[in-house]
Amino acid sequence: MTNTNPHITSAEWEVMRVVWANHSISSRQIIDLLTSILAWKEGTIKSLINRLVQKGLLIKEENKRPSSYQASISELEALASHVQLLFNQTCQRQRGQLLHTIIEQQELSQADCRLLIDQLNQKLDHAPERLACQCPVGQCHCHQHPNKEG
Ligand SMILES: [Zn+2]
Repeated sequence: MTNTNPHITSAEWEVMRVVWANHSISSRQIIDLLTSILAWKEGTIKSLINRLVQKGLLIKEENKRPSSYQASISELEALASHVQLLFNQTCQRQRGQLLHTIIEQQELSQADCRLLIDQLNQKLDHAPERLACQCPVGQCHCHQHPNKEG
């Protein structure tokens, strides 16, 4: 995962999901699928595909007929980078609480739970007692209570 991944809009996300689900797919198939799922116009979908190619998120396989598209990034990588951007928008002291809220709201399988427990146990061994606030002054609560330890 890199932080150079371009932002994917929600409309572009619909196209990416089709490509991720099909590995390699022609623009005709993308258009047929999305016009049936979302009732979008063909021209709209074509320009979304072109924009995703320009952003480097879709790769056109020129040697194939009809020409097909592949994603340059996995779905999980794209999601993780999207979520990381959101986490970067809040104080790192708040991120644990945010994760707690997110986990509370999700349906998780037993395997998911075990994976999370294992990972937290590993983190716990190396976790600092408290995290430092790295926010600019005036953008989080930490600076309003400088003597209160988070
Ligand atoms: Zn802060």
